[in-house]
Amino acid sequence: MTAEPHVARNYAPLDVTIAEAEGVWATDVDGRRYLDMLAGYSALNFGHRHPDLVAAATEQLSRATLTSRAFRSDQLEPFAAALAELCGKDLVLPMNTGAEAVETGIKVARAWGYRVKGVAPDAATIVVAHGNFHGRTSTIVGFSDDEEARGDFGPFAPGFVSVPFGDADAIAAAIDETTVAVLIEPIQGEAGVVVPPDGYLRRVREITSEQNVLFVADEIQSGLGRTGTTFACDREGVVPDLYLLGKALGGGIVPVSAVVGDEAVLGVLRPGEHGSTFGGNPLASAVGLRVVQLLQGGEIVERAGMLGDHLESLLEPLVGRGITGFRRVGLWAGVDIDPAAGTGREITEALLGRGVLAKDTHGQTVRLAPPLTIRASELSWGVEQLRIVLDRDSSA
Ligand SMILES: *Cc1c(COP(=O)(O)O)cnc(C)c1O
Repeated sequence: MTAEPHVARNYAPLDVTIAEAEGVWATDVDGRRYLDMLAGYSALNFGHRHPDLVAAATEQLSRATLTSRAFRSDQLEPFAAALAELCGKDLVLPMNTGAEAVETGIKVARAWGYRVKGVAPDAATIVVAHGNFHGRTSTIVGFSDDEEARGDFGPFAPGFVSVPFGDADAIAAAIDETTVAVLIEPIQGEAGVVVPPDGYLRRVREITSEQNVLFVADEIQSGLGRTGTTFACDREGVVPDLYLLGKALGGGIVPVSAVVGDEAVLGVLRPGEHGSTFGGNPLASAVGLRVVQLLQGGEIVERAGMLGDHLESLLEPLVGRGITGFRRVGLWAGVDIDPAAGTGREITEALLGRGVLAKDTHGQTVRLAPPLTIRASELSWGVEQLRIVLDRDSSA
């Protein structure tokens, strides 16, 4: 008997039932408190129930929540204008989930390929990277190389070519006259915070510009402050043709995603060709606008950089003492657990016992991505719990 007998078993949650949460802390049904070091896979970059975001949502709840795009609302254009400005782009196409933003990016890239680049009908291809995670739709898992994600879910949509992540020459070699886009995560989050070599994103930008191919950056997890810059692409001074955004864009309150690009690309879509009942709804737009305003303040992004340096200094002493290594960008780390200390899952279970919420990925990696609003002292306390857990397990 599981604790959720009526919930389909497509997840295996840790043994905790959360009832309330505020800022960086969650409280379970028995009143125990936990430091949230996962932050909803970065959907909670601003923490749980950030007062400004709750205020924006509450105010909008008393005005209008859903119009459908059959009519305009007074909330969508202000949100789109602010987000376009944050991205330095012309247009915003609002959706709800990350996977929908990715699907939208794929459709836009193909339409651009046929209508602007002149690719032969139905021949468009998109170059992706090994180890990618772009969501769970049948098209998206079709170009994943994670067997668990693909398994019994075929047949899959054709038109994708996968090359090693971090290898710009492999991208150049994969491009031919059918290529409409290169779709990558600037840093691969689900893969374990995998950071490509310096200069990779710049080379991808050069290659795609030279070859008249769109550069589509999936910043759904890496974007909106997590890396200490607004976008992970900013770290190399690179601007993609399309940003795919989600997760933190909804402030942890409502699902909000978006594709952001210039008129020359996103402008290819005509009325009726794409849409979403909930995409760009007034509630989502009101929250999304406030999220963009929080980011424009710059303070939260700066904190991610500062706290990230602190996180690095806390993790360094653990190398060789329960962890074999780690990758860290901004306030985002993939920590490789020494198998002698346990599996990633065992470590997250032990962390739970010490009041820390974290999630393993790919067996031996634990991802740390606390809200960007966390205090340095809270971060120290959280990593101290990891140190204790690793110590106990390796001496057991
Ligand atoms: C989470 C994620 C997605 C999918 O977002 P959903 O909202 O879960 O559909 C897509 N791309 C990346 C990089 C992600 O981290």
